[in-house]
Amino acid sequence: MGLSKTIWSNPTEFLRTAQPENPVIFFSPTVLQAAARRFIDGFPGMVTYAVKTNPSDVVIENLAAAGVRGFDVASPGEIRLIRRIAPDAALHYNNPVRARAEIAQAVELGVKSWSVDSASELEKLIELVPAENCEISVRFKLPVAGAAYNFGAKFGATVELAAQLLKRAHEAGFIPSLTFHPGTQCTDPHAWEAYIRAAADIGREAGVTVARLNVGGGFPNYRLQAVVPQIEETFALIDRVASEAFGDARPMLVCEPGRALCGDAFTHAAKVKAVRDGMHVFLNDGVYGALAELPLVGIIDRIETVDGQGRKRDGALASRIVFGPTCDSVDRLPGELMLAEDIAEGDYLIIHGMGAYSIATNTRFNGFGDLTIATVLSLKV
Ligand SMILES: *Cc1c(COP(=O)(O)O)cnc(C)c1O
Repeated sequence: MGLSKTIWSNPTEFLRTAQPENPVIFFSPTVLQAAARRFIDGFPGMVTYAVKTNPSDVVIENLAAAGVRGFDVASPGEIRLIRRIAPDAALHYNNPVRARAEIAQAVELGVKSWSVDSASELEKLIELVPAENCEISVRFKLPVAGAAYNFGAKFGATVELAAQLLKRAHEAGFIPSLTFHPGTQCTDPHAWEAYIRAAADIGREAGVTVARLNVGGGFPNYRLQAVVPQIEETFALIDRVASEAFGDARPMLVCEPGRALCGDAFTHAAKVKAVRDGMHVFLNDGVYGALAELPLVGIIDRIETVDGQGRKRDGALASRIVFGPTCDSVDRLPGELMLAEDIAEGDYLIIHGMGAYSIATNTRFNGFGDLTIATVLSLKV
């Protein structure tokens, strides 16, 4: 009996051998664990993972193996997923609006940290959650600055309301904390500065010593060749500003990155179904599949083309309109992409940095979306 090969050397070995007709996403456990170590070694506080970004079992398993001990969860489904794979991990239930039944299940499953951004939801928590050794973290927002996607549009109390909620949570016997999310794919470290200073103001306004400050996710992954993520610079800025803003009353820090942990550990490959009349490129994956986030957050330009034998097309580039496989007109990648001029039917388009919000939001619309995950030693094409 032959042993089936489950770990491939690199994406091209798999493409050459398997000639997949459906989209494939390549996973490097080494790259994922290195990203986790980078955060654990560099961030001046606790590192948790935002599960929604990529809830694959292999992601949770490898993050836990690398030393991630806490997870940001948003539903009982995510809570059960973490309890199954990392039973001792801390659960931060940071979806600020929850049904009473969801709260009851989370209490049952041992959640000890909750975020909130409104008086009505805070009263629900006070009624349903035992306060002992339990944290309530008030989520606040500031007017938007510079993120690829506005996270304050749905969640976050104003600074004034946050001070009232913090005081109320403290008086009700909970551990009083604050949290914010500066927006996703924040390539400018200064995105965190105003939030950390506002958090200190909220604590003073409420007359409450803030136990922990969760500085959110929003750390970028590597999407544009010319914009290398400044992760260590961002850690240094957070560390410095937290000390300046809070002085002796500096809270413990927590972060909850999603894309910065898993984004660069996955590389996507879509097959070119057709180059229609020599112009438009049609892929077997698109915005209803694993490429759903590109129109929302912006294109990734870390793209390569290989032919059916896995040979790189590295000649001149040409600008192309790229469509996904469904019959919907919005199923198109944003703008035009610079692709190998001689791209042809049967080639594979390889996009790096595709681990975040891809597997998680893939749909089966129009009968497509049969995505394979293949584990590789290296993501180098
Ligand atoms: C989605 C989300 C995150 C992760 O965001 P990234 O930009 O992927 O790092 C973190 N915290 C909360 C509350 C979220 O909703």
